[in-house]
Amino acid sequence: MISVIEAQRILHENVPAPQQISVSIDEAFGLYLFEDIKAPDSSPRYTNSAMDGYAVRWADCAEASADSPVQLEIIGESQAGIPFAGEVLKNSAVRISTGAMLPDGADTIIRVEDTEDLEGYVNILAVKKQGQDVRHKGEEFAEGQLLFLKGDCLGARELALMAAVGLHTVPVYAKPDVILLVTGTELVCHDEATIKAHQIRDSNTIMLASAIRESGGVLRSTSHVEDSLKHTIQAIEDGVASGVKLIICSGGVSVGRHDHVREAAAQAGFKELFWQIRQKPGKPLYVGRKGETLIFGLPGNPVSAYMCFRNFVRPVLAELQGTSCFDQTLTAIVSEQMTNKGKRTLFIRVKIENRPNQLALVKEVGQQGSHMLSTIAHADGYVVLQPGEVLQPGSLKEVSLF
Ligand code: AMP
Ligand code: MG
Repeated sequence: MISVIEAQRILHENVPAPQQISVSIDEAFGLYLFEDIKAPDSSPRYTNSAMDGYAVRWADCAEASADSPVQLEIIGESQAGIPFAGEVLKNSAVRISTGAMLPDGADTIIRVEDTEDLEGYVNILAVKKQGQDVRHKGEEFAEGQLLFLKGDCLGARELALMAAVGLHTVPVYAKPDVILLVTGTELVCHDEATIKAHQIRDSNTIMLASAIRESGGVLRSTSHVEDSLKHTIQAIEDGVASGVKLIICSGGVSVGRHDHVREAAAQAGFKELFWQIRQKPGKPLYVGRKGETLIFGLPGNPVSAYMCFRNFVRPVLAELQGTSCFDQTLTAIVSEQMTNKGKRTLFIRVKIENRPNQLALVKEVGQQGSHMLSTIAHADGYVVLQPGEVLQPGSLKEVSLF
């Protein structure tokens, strides 16, 4: 048996090579950049006005004030999208809108509020300095400047900047394809109308499918596999043939006579990276590798499957997407004693009680059985206790939030 940390290290060293793809920025939301990207255009693209007003020559109106306005002839307009074709000559002005191109000859903008519109003429009532309210080409960044870094996540803000500079397709990490194999002869689909006394509803399929989606994976297929070595080998071989990077199995990985995942993986050509971790829940976790495919054997107990997914599968999915994952944490006051009397790392599901203007309180959810789904559904998170660790009431503990 190996430790949690050791297992995570082995996994990190065996993450398959991520796949680079080129996608349109319309399809890139939530993906991570595979390469640094330089600006293909400058910003602003052309020198323009920051205000609605008049484009003028500073030389004409430097002395203007409300008491002695300067009168200029209006010779045309520069609209956003329709530039003025001529030149601003001595004692003339061009109406201009925000973002419109600064006409030749002009060097200063007078905002509407500092003017008085007369028929064909404008009175300039105030001006502060030459070049006021002019946005210069390239003042934000020049063409060729580094704009994005490898690993940046593409959200609303990044995609807007990409559109603004004319980036159409971008190199990103492909979302990893995953195949889910759920073993267990006792399982029936949750929507089955009739269920026999000796059967249970399959809850791991929807749980793991959701967790895969939440972690950015793409679920290619899900199969229910009965507890037979032959069928398990077949399902794993089909998974390998489909070329996915990850095959995630649920159940059948413990020491029972009908647990076939390890043996089936071995017969399908997988080399075992590890089996059994000093942790509770989730001791039977198995991982194997064949070329660029990893196979996870998650324990069937739903709580174990979930915690193993969170701590071992999720980081691999993150790495395949060019990022890393970490839990949101909270420091809380322990309200009732918690102990780890065993020899394994313990993940205790907890409830958080938020209190105004005070640190939150943390306590165990009532029961901790790894078959008890309500203990994760009702928990806010979990705390990690190493063997021998005792948390006294009143002490502080870091809580990982679900
Ligand atoms: P196993 O790891 O296959 O020995 O399963 C351990 C326990 O988890 C057994 O009680 C199973 O019935 C239960 N179990 C296995 N798979 C599922 C599943 N997909 N949904 C709900 N419970 C499961
Ligand atoms: Mg089973």
